[in-house]
Amino acid sequence: MDLKKLIRDVPNFPIEGIIFKDITTLLKDPKGYSETLDKLYNLSKNKGITKVIGIESRGFIFGGALAEKLGAGFVPIRKPGKLPSETVTESYELEYGIDSIEMHKDALEHGDKILLHDDLLATGGTMEAACKLVEKLGAEIVQISFLIDLTFLNGKEKLKGYEVQSLIEY
Ligand code: AMP
Repeated sequence: MDLKKLIRDVPNFPIEGIIFKDITTLLKDPKGYSETLDKLYNLSKNKGITKVIGIESRGFIFGGALAEKLGAGFVPIRKPGKLPSETVTESYELEYGIDSIEMHKDALEHGDKILLHDDLLATGGTMEAACKLVEKLGAEIVQISFLIDLTFLNGKEKLKGYEVQSLIEY
């Protein structure tokens, strides 16, 4: 099955000049959803992963399902102000301005083996900040996985030193 065919390009969303990779067309296809999950699982199985961390919000869709398949726990990384208990925060630069992400302080333990997951790698800024959050809490990043890598934006450069995997490249 060619998963690329199930991803829809939406030009000029959310702003002029961006081609948004819309995965809702893949998610609503039962075979597309299950094949994507199987492929992501095959990238990450047998690595001793104890927790999967998904990045708000599209990283939750396969992140949660992957955690269950891997026999791991699931931890959300969220936008500021969404998590109810004590958090650690990391800020990162956007094209215009600055953004932040948060994780619960007690989400990870020393010795946890982490898979970080998001739907799409663009510039890598979000995932780089997520890596810093995980390392602040003393856990080990075993692998980073994406459904889609926009390779022309060289996001992998920001994630040097980590094992980075993706299913679909543009
Ligand atoms: P970045 O920090 O630049 O790697 O951006 C990654 C985040 O922005 C991911 O959570 C993506 O869901 C979202 N994103 C960035 N560019 C796109 C795009 N062209 N289509 C869909 N999502 C995108």
